[in-house]
Amino acid sequence: MRRINRPSCPNPTALVTNYKHPDNKEALVNASFEKCSYCESEVTHIYFGDIEHIRPKSKYPNLEFEWSNLGFVCATCNNAKSNKYDEGTPYINPYEENPDDFLIAVGVFLKNKQGNERGELTILDIRLNRPELLEKRQTKLESIGKTIDACMRTRNESLKNNALKAIKQEGNEDKEYSFFVKMLLQLHQLI
Ligand SMILES: [Zn+2]
Repeated sequence: MRRINRPSCPNPTALVTNYKHPDNKEALVNASFEKCSYCESEVTHIYFGDIEHIRPKSKYPNLEFEWSNLGFVCATCNNAKSNKYDEGTPYINPYEENPDDFLIAVGVFLKNKQGNERGELTILDIRLNRPELLEKRQTKLESIGKTIDACMRTRNESLKNNALKAIKQEGNEDKEYSFFVKMLLQLHQLI
């Protein structure tokens, strides 16, 4: 999960009656670089993606058309989260908070920072260590690990620097599973 900058609502008039109006949905899709705001999977490669209510509309009907309550997610995270929401232990909201303050990546696993219950509940309820995600993260980290090894072996400085630059970009917020890649790059002291 990465911090996402919420854009201003492009079409507030449409928002009043349609929380997933295409103009507004597009802005949210672009803000998270077409990735699910919770699991960082590239959503639009597979389907159009969901606009979800951070505080579920079944419990907070007055927030159904509230821009600050909308996020872009994949169907799996959306279904897992469903209408759950505990005001006392709210899920991490990447549009308002920095997930780095709550979560860490340990290899392919997402963990909460020591004693952080909000992080723990977010991982548990949204199933952020589900097998399909572990598999995807594993594939990504293995591929980057191999490239790092190859980089370290090359004796040509230009080739090495070029390859390292490409690897570092994989840790940028617009890349899939970048939260995990960032941690791997930090371990190798590349960032
Ligand atoms: Zn997701």
